[in-house]
Amino acid sequence: MKKVSILIPCFNEEKSLPMLYPELAKLMDAHAAYEWELMFVNDGSADGTIDVLKQLRQQDSRVNYVDLSRNFGKEAAMLAGFDYVTGDCMVIIDADLQHPPTLIPEMIKHWEAGFDDVYAKRRTRGRESWLRRRLSLLFYKLLQSSSRFEVLQNVGDFRLLDRKCINALKKMRESERYTKGMYSWIGFRKKELEFDQGDRLAGESSWNYRRLISLALDGITSFSGMPLRISTIVGFMVSMCAFLYMIYVFVKALIWGDPVQGYPTLVILILFLGGIQLLSLGIIGEYIGRIYNETKNRPDYIVRQFNGDDVL
Ligand code: UDP
Ligand code: MG
Repeated sequence: MKKVSILIPCFNEEKSLPMLYPELAKLMDAHAAYEWELMFVNDGSADGTIDVLKQLRQQDSRVNYVDLSRNFGKEAAMLAGFDYVTGDCMVIIDADLQHPPTLIPEMIKHWEAGFDDVYAKRRTRGRESWLRRRLSLLFYKLLQSSSRFEVLQNVGDFRLLDRKCINALKKMRESERYTKGMYSWIGFRKKELEFDQGDRLAGESSWNYRRLISLALDGITSFSGMPLRISTIVGFMVSMCAFLYMIYVFVKALIWGDPVQGYPTLVILILFLGGIQLLSLGIIGEYIGRIYNETKNRPDYIVRQFNGDDVL
């Protein structure tokens, strides 16, 4: 019997889980030809999520949970899940029911047909502010144009991955994770399905603009060196212009002499060059900061308990 794991990262989801679990249970009972495993990862929730999980495990042995020692973020929580799932394939799904579990049987069908990565593309994105939608689309465009790897628009973590993909992802232990890029990076046979994203049923989205921007920066820096190249090119062009201007000033001073003048030019040049230098330094800094984090080689997450037992 093939085993299907469902991975659910949870951060403050005590209100969503009692709605999600019955849906999943219904699904599992309806497809008894497979062995099922639910792998909840409690990502340092501050509410009663862990109690709900304990309760669920008591009533259903298919429920497993990994309890992280603090909030490590969704990317790290998913990695913890990758390490703990035991299925022949795994479906990653959000706890807030924005991803319809009813799509899972279809994913499994395509998996049985030989696809390794069956991902779900959002046809609609649910309720979301105009600005957030715009920024998110802009980010995808930026990343796509700067990276060699295909970055799929409106495709998130909702997908089915074969054991081959899980093992490949487990090998990628970088600490600044951008998992959406990794799915493309590892390759394998992919299949696209579409779904309509609903609204979050309970609780609140934990992705404020600050976290989204930080994820976007991780995405760009871990999959593209383009910002560095741009700062090189801009630096080169600016110094070319400066060189030409230098010749012009020099020749002008030789021929017509140089009464002190040009204060505005000076100020503009200083500010302009200063700005470009700071910008380039900032870009370099973004990369160096990530190199620094990476070299510390810390674990990506720390587990407090697995299924109620301490992990030593
Ligand atoms: N999540 C997590 N750790 C975090 C933030 C979010 O495990 O630090 C989980 C959350 O519980 C949910 C999924 O990631 O299952 C998606 O989060 P959310 O619904 O807040 O994001 P959105 O749907 O607004 O992008
Ligand atoms: Mg959500």
